[in-house]
Parts: sequence; structure tokens; C-alpha cells
Amino acid sequence: MKQTKSKRNELKVFISSRESKCDECKEELGKKAWITLTEEKGALCLSCADLDNLVFLPSGDAALTRRSRKHSTLSAVVLKWSKARKRYERQGLLVEEAALKRAETVCLADEDTRAQRRIREADRRAELDLAYIRRFAEVIRQFYPKCPAETAQSIAEHACAKYSGRVGRSAAAKALDEDAVRLAVIARVRHVETRYDRLLMSGWDRVEARLCVEDAVRSVLAKWQGNEGW
Ligand SMILES: [Zn+2]
Repeated sequence: MKQTKSKRNELKVFISSRESKCDECKEELGKKAWITLTEEKGALCLSCADLDNLVFLPSGDAALTRRSRKHSTLSAVVLKWSKARKRYERQGLLVEEAALKRAETVCLADEDTRAQRRIREADRRAELDLAYIRRFAEVIRQFYPKCPAETAQSIAEHACAKYSGRVGRSAAAKALDEDAVRLAVIARVRHVETRYDRLLMSGWDRVEARLCVEDAVRSVLAKWQGNEGW
């Protein structure tokens, strides 16, 4: 059996691919035995190698593996010869059971921390949303001082829902410029303060319906701007 080079002189356990026999206790280990190989002692069963108190942790969970190894005074990497790839492949790690348990606890706590972080981030997004709605409502009231506060709030909430998840980014920031605010207000006035929705419901073409309510929209906007006399 070929020896593989490995980082740090870690102990290696090989899953044999042929009949093996322990050179110390002389026990027949059969095929697929777990053995260690040393130049002086030859093949040893895990019992004779004093590794039979360890538990096997299969590869796959990098964090758990790293932590188990860290907490384990004694550990060994488990390798198996791959005929197809013509090289030894890592199967996992033999570690002390207590170390594995400790590592599992740390990993669980980690998941907890991550879950808490997700909650904090969601809270933060909700706060950003609120700040955004407030700001949008302020801008509306700036352009339309006579727009009722709750209407401005409702238009802002609607706009915020539209940009939800993008708050704080350019799209949302852009939505606060005068044109975008005006468009949001016009759409709202059209839908809520005029016959527009009813016209659409009764089969009117969108463009015609818009033309039909244009004057009504303009008059509401003028009222909200405080230009009723115009
Ligand atoms: Zn033995």
C-alpha cells in the first residue's frame, strides 16, 4: 500500500482493500479492515494502534470536522484507496467522542447565532422601510402641502411595498425624486379620487379612461398643491 503525503504529520487510518492481518495481535481482519501502517510495526488493527476508542466522523461538514479535530487530543484521518481515481481519498476523521459532542454543541450554538442575526437583519430592514415611508410621505407633503397626511402616508406605504427589498438602494432613492413622487401621487389620485377604476371595470380602454379622468386628477392635484384658484 502506498503512503500518501499529508499536511502536518496527522495519524492516518487506511480502509484496506484486501485481506489484512494485524502484525501485532495476528488477528485476521478480513477485507476492508481499518488499519494503520507504520514502517516499524507494519499493519496494525485499531485496537493495537490504540485508536479503537475513537468515533468516526464522516467527511462533509467542514465546521464540525474542524472543531472536532481541534477539541480532540487524539485524532486520525481515514483514507480509502480509490481504484477509479488511483489515489487515497479522505473518508472522514476518527475523533474522541467527547470532542465530537463538544464540536456539535458549538456548531449548534453557531446556527443559533446565525438565526439571531437573520432576525436582527429583518428588524433592521423593517426599520429602513419605516424610515423610507416617512421620508416618502414627507416629500409628498412638500410637493402637495394640502394632501391629507393619512393619504400621503398611504401613498408612501404603497410605493414602499413596490420597492420592498430594495430599500436603501438606488432604485428606492431614485423613487424619492420629484417625478417619481408625482407619478405615485397621480396614480393614486386616479385610482382613488376619480371614476378611473370604474371606467376600467366597465370595459373602457386604459388610455381613454385616463383622458376621461384627466381633469379630475388635475383638479385634485391643484387642490393638494394649494393652487385651487387656478
Ligand atoms: Zn491487532
